[in-house]
Amino acid sequence: MLSSVDDLFLDVLKDIYFAEKKILKTIPKLVRGATSPDLKAALTEHRHETEGQIERLQQVFEHLGKPARAKTCEAINGLFEEADELFEDTEAGPVRDAGIVACAQAVEHYEMARYGALIAWAKASKHGDIAKLLQETLDQEKKADALLNKLGTDKINAEALREAA
Ligand code: FE
Ligand code: FE
Ligand code: ZN
Ligand code: FE
Repeated sequence: MLSSVDDLFLDVLKDIYFAEKKILKTIPKLVRGATSPDLKAALTEHRHETEGQIERLQQVFEHLGKPARAKTCEAINGLFEEADELFEDTEAGPVRDAGIVACAQAVEHYEMARYGALIAWAKASKHGDIAKLLQETLDQEKKADALLNKLGTDKINAEALREAA
């Protein structure tokens, strides 16, 4: 039973801890499937940031005096299943790259939703220190999302359109 905001917080903390570890493990697959050097670089850079994000989550568990434990996140598993489908249904090239951008943005949006909730609850529980730590991660997720968006709109989508023509 989750009977308090603190319980909810810990539950979602475990969820995003699972998700971040899954992301760390799965980004290389997206990088291998991508063609655009810019897209490969953006994903690789964000994987590096993800290592730091996992460490921040471990600091939050520690601060709460709880063991760092992951709880299966079906949402992130589902998002990566969709990426698998994309790889089955496309050949390497701009169309697949456009699909990878969209999949990666879906992941960033999921993370943004989770961190947003955690930060709101941390503030409500007067854990300003934890809120500040998680805000650093949320800022990275937003930046990653914005960069993916820019890669899509500046170049990859136009190349994908040309491909179809
Ligand atoms: Fe992340
Ligand atoms: Fe989840
Ligand atoms: Zn605190
Ligand atoms: Fe992310």
